Amino acid sequence: MPGQNPVRARNESAWLLPNDGTRTNHRLRRDMRQFADEDEIDLVIVGCGAGGSVLLQRLARDSWKVAALDAGPFWDPDADWVSDEAGSHHLYWTDPRVITGTDPVPMGSNNSGRGVGGSMVHYAGYTPRFHPSDFMTRTLDGVGADWPISYPELRPYYQAIEEELPVAGERWPWGDPHGYPHRPHPVGGNGEVFLRGAARLGITAKAGPVAIANGRFGNRPHCIYRGFCLQGCKVNAKASPLITHVPDALAHGAEVRPDAMVTRIAVDERTGRATGVHYVSHGRERFQKARMVAVAGYSIETPRLLLNSACGRFPDGLCNDFDQVGRYLMVQGAPQTAGRFDAEVRMYKAPPPEVSTEQFYETDPARDAKRGFSIQTVSPLPITWAEHIAAQGHWGRALREYMSDYVHWSCLGALCEFLPLPENRVTLAEEKDRYGLPVARISYSQCDNDRALARAAQSVMEDILHAAGADQVITIQRYAHLVGGARMAADERHGVVDRHGRSFALPNLYITDGSVLPTQGSANPALTIMAVAARTADHLAARASGGTT
Ligand SMILES: Cc1cc2nc3c(=O)[nH]c(=O)nc-3n(C[C@H](O)[C@H](O)[C@H](O)COP(=O)(O)OP(=O)(O)OC[C@H]3O[C@@H](n4cnc5c(N)ncnc54)[C@H](O)[C@@H]3O)c2cc1C
Ligand code: SF4
Repeated sequence: MPGQNPVRARNESAWLLPNDGTRTNHRLRRDMRQFADEDEIDLVIVGCGAGGSVLLQRLARDSWKVAALDAGPFWDPDADWVSDEAGSHHLYWTDPRVITGTDPVPMGSNNSGRGVGGSMVHYAGYTPRFHPSDFMTRTLDGVGADWPISYPELRPYYQAIEEELPVAGERWPWGDPHGYPHRPHPVGGNGEVFLRGAARLGITAKAGPVAIANGRFGNRPHCIYRGFCLQGCKVNAKASPLITHVPDALAHGAEVRPDAMVTRIAVDERTGRATGVHYVSHGRERFQKARMVAVAGYSIETPRLLLNSACGRFPDGLCNDFDQVGRYLMVQGAPQTAGRFDAEVRMYKAPPPEVSTEQFYETDPARDAKRGFSIQTVSPLPITWAEHIAAQGHWGRALREYMSDYVHWSCLGALCEFLPLPENRVTLAEEKDRYGLPVARISYSQCDNDRALARAAQSVMEDILHAAGADQVITIQRYAHLVGGARMAADERHGVVDRHGRSFALPNLYITDGSVLPTQGSANPALTIMAVAARTADHLAARASGGTT
């Protein structure tokens, strides 16, 4: 259509949302195409989060018969979400998991989501790109792994997804310098503290990049700056696949099947091909037949599903002939430092993601560790703030005093590039879940490099807050963002999927979520996960039309 917004021409999601003050296009959902279990569809996708939804939308546009099955609900922001911390717990994947290792990673609210939109429903909204160096850390720094793809191969996909979310921010000077489609948001009290402290120390800090509409985008309204991004943005200003990719997918003939927990990938042992997925929906066991299967269930559930799909041909788990499934699981070290100011900061009165610096992202020979970290505003709401204080050992009267002083505090968080280690992995535990399936056991231990980066990041955050005028600073250690576990590699001895996300073991099984990342940089991962999934979609579409990529 002449004059049509070019983003709308390739992804109409934001224009398919209602324009009447409600947030869900119920008609689109009601009228969506529905496949029968016995239809052999072109592709069934397990999980409709960051990676799964992009694949779904792209291939629906390419006229594939495609369905995404998600274990969780099809959220309606009007009915299901509340702007309240305590009332948002149902957004998380809280099924049992066993954690172990010398530095076990807490699960639940801090780690993964359940339901259409995946973890991005309650993610903070930071959407930085990885740096070119992230794709070759082994060559450059002698640690981590080289990806089988390079940054320039991903660049066009980064640009496309940044336009579709859309991302707002200042021109980005780090990594591959680039601009953003939306101008930066004004910053609140926490962002001002960060900018002030950084400027006094000569550290460059910038507003953004955040996947939050700055101004109207289609029928999505402007952010209203009330800080509930991690509770599911009821306003529809913050991007998540529920509003950025699923509506367009439905309009192009895809099916999204919520409340469908996939329990096993079926394999024809004679042909060595996947034939569909077994799943449980509303208490009934069902089977969706498909020509191809893509798994996008998040870094824990994806390896778990592969391991739970063991069969005669793959006795140790699907794609696990070389003992690679579940390995190289990564989590970023994410210390948080809070500083107290005499003046009120009121960090809750803005989106938590506002300002960040990537000045410390790359290896610095002056540090006793390889690779680096980024620093971002985090702005915990009161319950999370209480957890922060309690983690410092304050209880009772002291905790109450910190809580009543909440408006005077500012909070920064670091993301440290913890290294991919083979022994950090997902395996199966003895314990079973409500479907009778072994739950995931997640073993995690830090190495010396990891600890050195966390110490360095803490020291910089404390310096920034002191420079901004804080009279007291406190730091807690925590983690963020699980990725890896089914990594992309040059060959099957070093990973689970190839450079297109295709498993080495089964020609018609793909993985398109955060588990394919070989390294994690110091960037929040969602944008990269979506970009990698979009690249896989292009590869599949090209193959289907007889081309190559
Ligand atoms: C509190 C929090 C804040 C975050 N903030 C940021 C941020 O600011 N920026 C950023 O980039 N990232 C952030 N993240 C991380 C980001 O959201 C995730 O990395 C990303 O969404 C992962 O994408 P994915 O496709 O791997 O999985 P997900 O998006 O989690 O999607 C997986 C989907 O699969 C479904 N599923 C799983 N197993 C099955 C099964 N067996 N059958 C059917 N369905 C299944 C789940 O229900 C889920 O919907 C944050 C995460 C959390 C928890
Ligand atoms: S601050 Fe903006 S993006 Fe965050 S929840 Fe509120 S309206 Fe949504």
